[in-house]
Amino acid sequence: MTQAPDIVIIGSGIGGATIAAGLAGSGARITILERGERLPDTPEARSYRSIFVDGHFRPKETWRETDGTEFNPGNFYYVGGNSKLFGAVLLRYRSQDFTEMQHLGGVSPAWPFPYEELEPWYGKAEHLFEARGRLGEDPTEPVHSTPYPHAAVPDEPVIARVRAELKAQGLHPATLPLGVDIDAWLGGGRTPWDGFPNTGKGKKDAETASLEVALKDPNIELVTSAHVDTLEAGRDGRIEAIHYTHRGERKRLVAKLVILSAGAINSAAILLRSGEGKGLANRSDQVGRNFMNHNCSAMLAINPFKRNDSIYQKTLMVNDYYLSGGRDNLPLGNVQLLGKINSDILRANAPRYAPRFALDFMAGHAVDWYMMTEDLPNPESRIMVDGKGIIMQWRRSNMEALSGLENKMREHFKAAGYPVVLSQAFDKRTPSHQCGTVCMGLDPATSVLDPWCRAWDHSNLYVVDGGFLPTSAAVNPALTIAAQALRVADHLVKTGLSS
Ligand SMILES: Cc1cc2nc3c(=O)[nH]c(=O)nc-3n(C[C@H](O)[C@H](O)[C@H](O)COP(=O)(O)OP(=O)(O)OC[C@H]3O[C@@H](n4cnc5c(N)ncnc54)[C@H](O)[C@@H]3O)c2cc1C
Repeated sequence: MTQAPDIVIIGSGIGGATIAAGLAGSGARITILERGERLPDTPEARSYRSIFVDGHFRPKETWRETDGTEFNPGNFYYVGGNSKLFGAVLLRYRSQDFTEMQHLGGVSPAWPFPYEELEPWYGKAEHLFEARGRLGEDPTEPVHSTPYPHAAVPDEPVIARVRAELKAQGLHPATLPLGVDIDAWLGGGRTPWDGFPNTGKGKKDAETASLEVALKDPNIELVTSAHVDTLEAGRDGRIEAIHYTHRGERKRLVAKLVILSAGAINSAAILLRSGEGKGLANRSDQVGRNFMNHNCSAMLAINPFKRNDSIYQKTLMVNDYYLSGGRDNLPLGNVQLLGKINSDILRANAPRYAPRFALDFMAGHAVDWYMMTEDLPNPESRIMVDGKGIIMQWRRSNMEALSGLENKMREHFKAAGYPVVLSQAFDKRTPSHQCGTVCMGLDPATSVLDPWCRAWDHSNLYVVDGGFLPTSAAVNPALTIAAQALRVADHLVKTGLSS
């Protein structure tokens, strides 16, 4: 592209690539600056050991806690962002998630608009990501005005049996909506896809779904290895330039419109590092605050007399305790299958002295579940920066919901014939469902973005990654981020891409 772009998008993950897809064909000249490179197709991409023990795909980066403790985050910098390794669960927030809701640990605030506003965009996002699902099984399912574009991924035999066992207890196990063409995926290797990097073999992620559409437009270009450092604002409050480092060279790019989508944590960090004092877009002092990440645990339901020979496993969820079931009948959360674990994954999380045969036996007889409960917004749960470093002060909330959900499901799994049930919570090293940090809202004094994801303080700056989410709900976030990105793209086109 020889002329200066009209729009610069920072980050090619779910938010950035999907807004680019929504803007394709608009005539706007768009440059996407992406810090990572395309994920290479190497044998490590299907190796449990390389991924989960050696951390082959993890970044060579450390973040810090406020007490100075360093950790290596599972935050992935590739074209397509975190979605390259995602579980491809394409769930909509439930309609109640858009309203104020009392939880065990406090109140989850209302969104600035109701579910109905996002509903058509959810349908378009499901279409873009070629979602495979089945309606009518889940009691919490919100209204869908369009069906899933493809039939559901089938349960493997063991999982079909688990579905029947849970149904027999009066639960409503439902099919997980997924962005996976299972034959194409298994053609690339007989592994699960959850946590496995996608090298273009059947998983629909930000690169293989959204970016592929966007880059068909000759006006849209992708620049990789372009690490955005700061934004520069003019006296009138407009963002005048983007400063980035491209293969070691410092560069400055000017555009009429800037769409930040570096992920909830990195977008907050870029804003906090920019400008002077409190950073940019931060008149409200809310940038970096209200960091949320779901409270999750892995739960292994083990029957020592039944092998689980599933390959991918991840086709079921249970939402019977999503809206009720806790103390005072308050909400607990979502339960869904993990991708099938093996002994390498257990080894990465077990004491070093755990014998191999014991881990093999456990993995071979476990059905592996993922418990997910809502993390509530809290201004003291925040991302901060120290020069180039990122400091995470995650104040987890609503933990009673996680233990309540584990207790309920432990009883169900035991009643279904799994006498041994083990669980382990995910911690800060897994910021997979990061959100908040630049929440949208109706009041510039208490939010960073308006309901179209435009910064209250800068008329030509938008943020469309998970940072805009005012609540984490208790379902996987990617489809909601994609739906909002498409909604914002449509708004930009209808308003003449003006700022
Ligand atoms: C292992 C795993 C499993 C998951 N499973 C699911 C699932 O099943 N369903 C679901 O809904 N969600 C899942 N998620 C979460 C989902 O992937 C994220 O919610 C989603 O990718 C967030 O989109 P985003 O646009 O906010 O950020 P990302 O998709 O992470 O995109 C951010 C992009 O910005 C780039 N970037 C960062 N900093 C800079 C910079 N300074 N300059 C330039 N570029 C930059 C990054 O490289 C990246 O490409 C999972 C995540 C992980 C890690």
